[in-house]
Amino acid sequence: MAKVEKYVYSFGPDGTDGNATMKALLGGKGANLAEMTNLGLPVPAGFTIATNVCTYFYDHERSYPPKLRKLVEHALAKVEKEMGAKFGSTTNPLLLSCRSGARDSMPGMMDTVLNIGLNDKTVEALAKESGNERFAWDSYRRFVQMYGDVVLDMKPKTKTDDDPFEELLEAKKHAAGVKLDNELSAEQLKELVAEFKKAIKDRTGHDFPTEPMDQVWGAVGAVFNSWMNDRAVVYRRTYGIPHEWGTAVNVQAMVFGNLGDDCATGVAMTRDVALGLPGLNGDYLINAQGEDVVAGIRTPERIEETLGKAMPAAHQQLVEIGKKLEAHYRDVQDVEFTVQRGKVWMLQTRNAKRTGFAAVRIAVDLVNEGVIAEEEALNPKRIPADDLNQLLQPIYDPESKRAAVNAGRFLAKGINAGPGAASGKICFHASDAEAEWLKDNNVKLILVRRETSPEDLRGMKIAQGILTAFGGASSHAALVSRQMGKACIVGCGALNIDYNASTLSVGSKVLKAGDSISIDGFTGEVFEGAVETRPSEILQVLITKTLAPEKAEVYHRYEQLMSWVDNHRRLGVRTNADEPKQAREAVAFGAEGIGLCRTEHMFFDHIDDFREMILATTLEGREKALVKLLPYQRGDFDGIFRAMEGRPVTIRLLDPPLHEFLPHSGDEQKALAAKIGIPAETIARRVHELHEFNPMLGHRGCRLGIVYPEITRMQARAIIEAACDVKKDGIDVHPEIMIPLAGFATEFRNQEKIVRETADKVFAEKGLHVHYLVGTMVELPRAAICADQIAQNAEFFSFGTNDLTQTTLGMSRDDYSTYINHYRELDIVPNDPFQTIDRDGVGGLMKIAVEKGRSVREKLKLGICGEHGGDPSSVMFCDEIGLDYVSCSPFRVPIARLAAAQSAVQQAANPKPVAKKKAPRKKAQPTA
Ligand code: PEP
Ligand code: MG
Repeated sequence: MAKVEKYVYSFGPDGTDGNATMKALLGGKGANLAEMTNLGLPVPAGFTIATNVCTYFYDHERSYPPKLRKLVEHALAKVEKEMGAKFGSTTNPLLLSCRSGARDSMPGMMDTVLNIGLNDKTVEALAKESGNERFAWDSYRRFVQMYGDVVLDMKPKTKTDDDPFEELLEAKKHAAGVKLDNELSAEQLKELVAEFKKAIKDRTGHDFPTEPMDQVWGAVGAVFNSWMNDRAVVYRRTYGIPHEWGTAVNVQAMVFGNLGDDCATGVAMTRDVALGLPGLNGDYLINAQGEDVVAGIRTPERIEETLGKAMPAAHQQLVEIGKKLEAHYRDVQDVEFTVQRGKVWMLQTRNAKRTGFAAVRIAVDLVNEGVIAEEEALNPKRIPADDLNQLLQPIYDPESKRAAVNAGRFLAKGINAGPGAASGKICFHASDAEAEWLKDNNVKLILVRRETSPEDLRGMKIAQGILTAFGGASSHAALVSRQMGKACIVGCGALNIDYNASTLSVGSKVLKAGDSISIDGFTGEVFEGAVETRPSEILQVLITKTLAPEKAEVYHRYEQLMSWVDNHRRLGVRTNADEPKQAREAVAFGAEGIGLCRTEHMFFDHIDDFREMILATTLEGREKALVKLLPYQRGDFDGIFRAMEGRPVTIRLLDPPLHEFLPHSGDEQKALAAKIGIPAETIARRVHELHEFNPMLGHRGCRLGIVYPEITRMQARAIIEAACDVKKDGIDVHPEIMIPLAGFATEFRNQEKIVRETADKVFAEKGLHVHYLVGTMVELPRAAICADQIAQNAEFFSFGTNDLTQTTLGMSRDDYSTYINHYRELDIVPNDPFQTIDRDGVGGLMKIAVEKGRSVREKLKLGICGEHGGDPSSVMFCDEIGLDYVSCSPFRVPIARLAAAQSAVQQAANPKPVAKKKAPRKKAQPTA
């Protein structure tokens, strides 16, 4: 019998259907409301319409399962009973909230409607019952506005759209001679409600719905529809949340933070989520409703500073609840609460979003406090590997900040919501930021706003940093920028922002859009102009060695984390480096070898000699030039071998097409002609001869060494001579010589023979032997498919996934930017394939190569050296398919180490079932 789908789940003192494990069905908010109810915490009763209804909604032209109406009515009756009030009653009315709740939280991206159930009659009952007429009309005013904005789609879409509700509200305050919303009288609020309703009629042609049940369905529909609004779609694309998941809708009894001065509303974190410091903290507002805090319209009070004094009993309840929740979820919680007449009510709890700094500190602290195990600290949900990057970014140099202060460039101080140092041009609107970015992808902007809203998401992504005049540490701006890892300052009340004039003023100082500004997200300081930066604390300890480790708190926890990382990972991490300095830096970051040394970069340092080699028309001529290059190459390898102190070094033979090294303009050709004494026409002719229509598929890779074996011979000699010299000095050395772009086993063997013959010659000359390997890059589909043939001779493979991606996808890595954004917008590809491995296509070929290669050479060494080697998801894939190492740029080494450990921990927790031999298929029996 088909399973009957359950669509509606209740929570409340009389029975709760869900729990925290049911996020897929109930969404994060719904599952945690159920869990908090189960824990006995004070949660207003309600019900969750599950995500399967959202799926149904989008599969059935935005309609509901037929039985949903009955189920909702039934669940609502239960809430009425539990709360002792009746929805729509004109004597004892129950009001409802309606909120979205996806499986992974998407802060502010979808819609919410509060105070549902109010109309001209119920508002009177609410006034009577609460004994507070002003409160009742304030709630009604908010409801009509929110309903108009959210359900009736009256919210302004662009910076030039008018906002009828805000305009009416401003006009009313102006006429009343007051500044704040909560200074308006009941009478004035009544007038506003009537004006709001008229605006709705004028704008939509329909009356504001007065039937409470119609209001519920309007709000539920708005939430389901908001799953597909532009900002939610962009958010999901950014954070890899599948569109199929859908949102749940939570309908819950209202409690009120705006009943008077013994009421409040707020958002609290059980630890600080910017830097990870311990202790309950957050924002609250007395006599206000929830949205006021998050919307950033009023700058709230700090819980840790004043709530204990303002409402000692409520503060105490909140601290206790915070402790209970953190211990239960074993992670930092971000909670929404309302204090109604001194009693705390919980409206939400979720694992708090945090910066990279906070993620590391909190995970390490929780292990040290015995709350979680090391393995759990390595869960990618706790520390997304990419977030480590934040800890390596430059910080402002204290000297330069002092100089800026002395020069009168200090502007103001706000709340330090997202650590980081960001400088750029002032930009007041997200749409302007987008326009600037389209003109110049490298533009550095600081988005400066009174407050941000979810519409600003695209602009926030582009900006280096975000600065707002209003809002607290849990405002939208703070939350989103923390998640993006951007420097952010909020609640900088001294800033006077005039969107119309495009100016930002502080006292008498006026800055315009486009002027330069710097924000220090560690301290909340804002400066006019640029401020110089210095390396991060971790770099000061590891690389510049200008800070003692014991004085570096961030480094201390980083170090502890990385020791767990290395205890758990199986996958090796190497670096792509072609200079001793880079190699040393990478080793300081934990690199265990070089996975790719691109030798062409070295030729650029001796470009004229190399050009002479290319321009020579005879073998003798080429060899003469190569003799000049040999000592340079040897010196380069010598430096790298010494820097790597016995760690393996993979050196790739020359790869790019020769024309890349020649001058292309007439003037450059003339200058070269004068330098090396050959006619400019000869150079021009050679450039013409070497021109290729598709250079990436051209005369490059091993094809060069096959046509010009003398190049391979010179490079092999330089490598082996350097290795012998280094070994002679008592330093261990492990060269791995790598043939690029081989697709045929015969190509590989051709080059291998030259390398081995040259090595034997050098060993004979030097009277010394060095152990070395000869292997190949796997950059062509043919190499992957014929990997068993190539592995007969090749001692290692390194996946060159930059080329393998372009040759597999038929997309040029140099040109794909013209259409890839379009592909991303249309969800044709889930990621940028040149950043994150296309697992099915490129990854499929890699798996074939691994299997076939190891079928003939069990111990075949396998690595990756394309850019994907530093991308966490790709690193995890490489671990899963059994590569021995990944290789990435020096600054990505810590990230790759962490991702490798995260993969190992995940695999240990969910071991793949060992493939059993398939049982022979039974013949199908005819069914009765
Ligand atoms: C690659 O193709 O992945 C690679 C590492 O080589 P290059 O980027 O130098 O072509
Ligand atoms: Mg390549």
